[in-house]
Amino acid sequence: MTKKVKQAVIVVDYQNDFANPEAGSLYVNSWEKIAEAINKVILETKSKWWIVISSRELHPKGHISFASNYIWKEPITESFIRWENPGEKNFITLEEINSGKIQIAEKAQFDLKELKEYIENQETKSDAVWPDHCVEWEFGSEFYKDFDNSLVDIEIKKGFENNTHPYSAFGWRTLDETRTALEVLQDFWVKLVKIVGLATDYCDIATALDAKKYGFEVEFIKEATTWVDPEATINALNKMREKWITIK
Ligand SMILES: [Zn+2]
Repeated sequence: MTKKVKQAVIVVDYQNDFANPEAGSLYVNSWEKIAEAINKVILETKSKWWIVISSRELHPKGHISFASNYIWKEPITESFIRWENPGEKNFITLEEINSGKIQIAEKAQFDLKELKEYIENQETKSDAVWPDHCVEWEFGSEFYKDFDNSLVDIEIKKGFENNTHPYSAFGWRTLDETRTALEVLQDFWVKLVKIVGLATDYCDIATALDAKKYGFEVEFIKEATTWVDPEATINALNKMREKWITIK
């Protein structure tokens, strides 16, 4: 590909654990239904100078975001572990860790020091933990079948280290780890970034805000995205509008 590409579509985390109604550990109702809209945005963009980037979570089994890597003094609910109630989540806080209310399980691949640093780096000094999801190279981490991933030019992997759980696709690297998402966009002289995929109130907004921060024009394509929590989604859309991100 030449250095003439000016538009990019970033497909955020359209993986089985999120979008597959039969097998997704973090599947939310209807998330499989935006696949067609994602393919459409990509095909429409193909008539211009373009590049398609897809991000993908690839977590090790001992990952810091998995509830199963903690010992909870009060057991977390089965429905959470199986994500039967979308929007239900558990948080870990420094207070709970320091008081021993939450401990690290044996299978975890991070230590107490890393955990404390991780929590301290969060704006809220707490972080949500999730059912196991997108375990590297297992079925849950593969792209959902209705998304035509043959259209993808470059893949970005997220959260492949034990002690990181980034929502944004920016700052994270290509499969061969040679370039970040930002470097790929700069290499292809991209000016306009279109955001599609999962989910509006988590990874989409984080990716969109980062794209804006790095100086790109940003379009958030509503029909090719979907969400977890309605209220958080309204806030996310407002925040994007405030930052001059175009909601289409
Ligand atoms: Zn994750």
